[in-house]
Amino acid sequence: MGYQKNELLKVVIEDIGNGGEGIGRVDGYALFVKDAVIGDTVEARITKAKKSYAYARLEKVLVPSPFRVEPKCPLHRQCGGCQIQALSYEKQLEWKQNKVKNHLVRIGGFEKQLIDKIMEPPVGMDRPYGYRNKAQFPVGYDKDGTLIAGFYAGRTHHIVANTDCALGVPENKEILERILRFMEENRVSAYEEETGQGLVRHVLIRKGFHSGQLMVCLIIHGRELPSAQKLVESLCELENMTSVSLNFNEENTNVILGKDGKLLWGSPVIEDTIRELLPNAGTGSFTESGRAVTFRISAQSFYQVNPEQTEKLYSLALDYAGLTGRESVWDLYCGIGTISLFLAGHAGQVYGVEIVPQAIEDARANARLNGIENAEFFVGKAEEVLPREYEQNGVHADVIVVDPPRKGCDEKCLETMLRMQPEKIVYVSCDSATLARDLRVLCDGGYELVKGRAVDQFGQTVHVEVVIMMTYCGSDKKNKR
Ligand code: SAH
Repeated sequence: MGYQKNELLKVVIEDIGNGGEGIGRVDGYALFVKDAVIGDTVEARITKAKKSYAYARLEKVLVPSPFRVEPKCPLHRQCGGCQIQALSYEKQLEWKQNKVKNHLVRIGGFEKQLIDKIMEPPVGMDRPYGYRNKAQFPVGYDKDGTLIAGFYAGRTHHIVANTDCALGVPENKEILERILRFMEENRVSAYEEETGQGLVRHVLIRKGFHSGQLMVCLIIHGRELPSAQKLVESLCELENMTSVSLNFNEENTNVILGKDGKLLWGSPVIEDTIRELLPNAGTGSFTESGRAVTFRISAQSFYQVNPEQTEKLYSLALDYAGLTGRESVWDLYCGIGTISLFLAGHAGQVYGVEIVPQAIEDARANARLNGIENAEFFVGKAEEVLPREYEQNGVHADVIVVDPPRKGCDEKCLETMLRMQPEKIVYVSCDSATLARDLRVLCDGGYELVKGRAVDQFGQTVHVEVVIMMTYCGSDKKNKR
């Protein structure tokens, strides 16, 4: 039996969907209830009814779940950023671990026993708030015409005013307030998407967690900021301000940054360091090894947003790669060379491949900055550069590391990896569904899953990173379906 729109139902939430929504059932009919927490008994009103399921709005929590916690951010239900703030952090981690395992079993076709055996306990955050080193705040007006900065409400372009995001650094608030004050006092307008009028679109703020350095970039719909000097004076008063710049984006687009920009004050880059850590066997803890790599980051650079967890993720990737100093290592989808440079100190030679030319320029500059001479970088698609280098130049790999975007690796890339037959493959993934799909291809081609671990880079959200290590075991295909 189905239900109708606007009907009010009482339901026990038994599961969490991929988007973080609570899932409950009434007579076998599934209800997806945003903001409901697993273990809650709630009253929910149907907003969209289908034959066997419906979306519903949380009206009232009748019996709160034991896993329910008080969210830090009062705006978490309106804002699109955090989906599971009301769920205890321990439960978030457990759910993420299960999600990864389920994907490996259901999509990858691996046996549950094998997955339970190879997956180590997830690496959680010590502080699951205030962890982001970067934030991009849209600027606009509220319904009364007041200038605001904040975040887009889930899947819309309606701005929720919030200068103090709980995932960001405390400096964001003061910086945004100074920018809004500057705009008001100097009659600088905010850009409005509907009309294409106005100037300031977004504010990008970055902080180097180890260096403390701060970067502010105003993204404007134009090429000139009136009274820019006053903004510089105001922002320079803040301790550790290192870079103030403009970025020009005159397109009518969802892409935040434009191609060109202009430095208003200070340095075009900030610095940050990624320390090498040694995982303490059998625990979620790590010890510093004393080594580190320093990165120069511009407003445009891609750089991991959770530096503390990135150190753990890359240290695990390094540990899994088991390098002795002689290996030839390929780092596919290398961005600004973060993983490549991290591995270089332990390998014979590292090759990085990345599609964005600017990122490769950053990678080369970062190699020089750290005195790393055994890293070479290629601009291009992994699925084109790797086959070309293998077929035409006969390159060899002892270890291949991949860290692709959510859509995973291209088939041609996987196929070339199988032909190159490195002893080890380390797969760093931000989407366990495409990870599972790709691991199946690699295991059908002769690789065996050895170890894996989820690392939470994005507490309060539904995202999770995973690192998996595989070794070549010949064509007997141990990890059968
Ligand atoms: N390992 C890096 C970046 C990972 S994000 C780091 O941790 O900093 C994934 C990267 O893959 C992005 O930089 C993106 O630009 C790049 N990319 C996307 N498609 C690609 C492709 N087909 N070939 C090579 N790189 C690609």
